[in-house]
Amino acid sequence: MKYKRILLKLSGESLMGEDNYGIDPNRLQKYAEEIKKVKDLGVEIAIVIGGGNIYRGVQAEKTGIDRVQGDYMGMLATLINAMALQSALEQNGMYTRLMSGIKVESVCEPFIRRRAIRHLEKGRIVIFGAGIGNPYFTTDSTASLRAIEIEAEVVLKGTRVDGVYTADPEKDKTATKYNSLSYQEAYEKNLNIMDMTAFTLCQENNLPIIVFDMNKDGNLMKLAQGEEIGTLITSL
Ligand code: UDP
Repeated sequence: MKYKRILLKLSGESLMGEDNYGIDPNRLQKYAEEIKKVKDLGVEIAIVIGGGNIYRGVQAEKTGIDRVQGDYMGMLATLINAMALQSALEQNGMYTRLMSGIKVESVCEPFIRRRAIRHLEKGRIVIFGAGIGNPYFTTDSTASLRAIEIEAEVVLKGTRVDGVYTADPEKDKTATKYNSLSYQEAYEKNLNIMDMTAFTLCQENNLPIIVFDMNKDGNLMKLAQGEEIGTLITSL
């Protein structure tokens, strides 16, 4: 295995599957199976999940809801996804702990760094729900920050496309994929891999990011074994 400890970032939208909203149980089951394959080989796995399939704070302003209130609603949305994922992982025989960035003591533990690391060492999959716990952040920032805190070796950003392209491949047929990129290059070309807060945290702490297609069977496993798929962003 190339990595001992990874942080997997899944967007909320990826849980929608073919639907426009909510959680697709088939997609959830598929993710659980992919994660199990890697877990069974001894990799320590932490997961950050987004909430965009249910609610995003920026939506709030359009509906007259205060932005900060909307962001907390978004954080709660990520918790709903995290609980669904936790359930799917457990049904597939994995041990898990859900840690929240905001206090929701009836359903999960608060985030405590040392405790998170201990769970990982004991072979539990740790899911970080509710983001960082502060408004005006995203779950990408959460992924970068938590990865640094728990000393993960890489952030694996699972998306619907197989890497970073010169332009949006869903809109521009001439777009080509990068196999690797430096942080600097990604920044200068404005490639929008993550929001700037998240991206800068990775760059300043030399944390590699790999953008890959999580919906393709076996991809997560390939990455864990060191195969070069997706796009690797490092200091080069
Ligand atoms: N959010 C927040 N602080 C955080 C993480 C998330 O305020 O630390 C809110 C924010 O409103 C965001 C929403 O939760 O829009 C859902 O997260 P995100 O948009 O990152 O989900 P994804 O795009 O990955 O599905």
